Amino acid sequence: MTTGDGKTIDVDVAVIGAGPAGAVAAALLRRDGHRVRVIERQQFPRFSIGESLLPQSMAYIEEAGMLQAVVEAGFQYKNGAAFFRGEERSEYDFRDKSSPGWGTTFQVVRADFDNVLARCAAEQGADVRFGETVTAFRGGATPELDIVDAEQVATTLRARFVLDASGFGRVLPRLLQLETPTGLPQRAALFGHFAEGDAARQSDRTKIGVFVHPSHRDVWFWRIPLSDGRSSIGCVAAPAFLSPDDGLPLSARPESEQDAWREARLRALIAEEPLLARLFDGAPLRMPVRTLTGYSANVASLHGDGYALLGNAGEFLDPVFSSGVTIAVRSAHQATQVLKRQLRGEAVDWQREYDAPLRKGIDTFRAFVERWYSGELQDIIFYKAQTPMIRRMISAVLAGYAWDESNPYVKDPVRRLNALHAVCALPTAG
Ligand code: FAD
Repeated sequence: MTTGDGKTIDVDVAVIGAGPAGAVAAALLRRDGHRVRVIERQQFPRFSIGESLLPQSMAYIEEAGMLQAVVEAGFQYKNGAAFFRGEERSEYDFRDKSSPGWGTTFQVVRADFDNVLARCAAEQGADVRFGETVTAFRGGATPELDIVDAEQVATTLRARFVLDASGFGRVLPRLLQLETPTGLPQRAALFGHFAEGDAARQSDRTKIGVFVHPSHRDVWFWRIPLSDGRSSIGCVAAPAFLSPDDGLPLSARPESEQDAWREARLRALIAEEPLLARLFDGAPLRMPVRTLTGYSANVASLHGDGYALLGNAGEFLDPVFSSGVTIAVRSAHQATQVLKRQLRGEAVDWQREYDAPLRKGIDTFRAFVERWYSGELQDIIFYKAQTPMIRRMISAVLAGYAWDESNPYVKDPVRRLNALHAVCALPTAG
């Protein structure tokens, strides 16, 4: 790496953001011998949401040389998903699935997980800088990024290519005005970490719990057991459902009042779901309850002149099937495959080799997400007479194998799910 006059730095690849997409991309490029600089705005460890991984993500963590460190970090083992709707219960064991590959994974405190991945990228030679923020981008054959560090010292980074892995920061979509409507209704999440009592400790901690609200089928809860005796619990609903109904927005109130309101609202919602109430009524809170609103996002194209978008910097759907980190590390794998060839001087087609195939899997998840909220996928999931073969195909998608086109529910998800729902059609709540 040359530093020129101290203000302009040349690298092969600049990666914006050290979350899962950025860290995995940086490591994969280092393994091919490229000079990589990662620019991360925050100091790690830092809080992030997205705690339940899918087994498909393990292949990319392994490919990036991070598997041993992730295993040794001692995260909570996960082998499936358990869905609850009133008295109904339906469990998917991800080891029993139609696609080959990992059937287990972890549920992670993201501050620790992201720190492990970023450390692994640095250990493989990526130059990971924390406390630096990207403020401007100029595309072209040698794209440039303007960066400021915590002391407001400015640097220009000149690269052969830029990967934007800035997550919800969405640096290049914002700077280049790439954002497009998502097509999904905006939703919000209210979430916190709770200490587990005896009943929660004795419940199945190896699966994410997904609970449909007893009287609103488009409102649901996650329960994600973590390795340190806590569970992450969140409720996802339309923003108005998770906001005060007295007309005064939460943001207009004093900070302490906001915290108290969020905690009271989340506890009240937990009390409405009988099983969650039994496990977590009155459980001590281990972090202030937080809220996120309007996180779904999309862009017209996942690549452009001198750059590509990874993970949430490109498209984000919805948390319901825990697909975010899997899409993030899958995008890192796919983009670096193309980029490595481009850096060797080969002609590549980012649209055909990156954008279209990545979106194929995202669209599989989209078909599942849309039908979750309409209630159709809930009918499929809770249908008692499902054939084992179809269950294994659905299990494969829920485990993250949304790019395996040997699965009919990946190849043609909309038609297949609609046909399956016609068979499973049950009266729906709500
Ligand atoms: P991130 O993890 O967001 O990392 C981006 C990084 O870029 C950050 O560290 C940020 O500080 C940095 N950055 C931003 N702007 C700049 C800048 N200007 N300069 C430099 N650095 C910058 N996913 C799952 O897999 N499982 C789940 O259970 C799950 N639950 C979720 C629940 C909710 C309510 C929501 C909203 C999302 C959930 N997700 C889940 C999605 C998950 O959070 C994301 O998909 C995932 O974190 C994306 O990873 P990433 O690497 O693309 O971005």
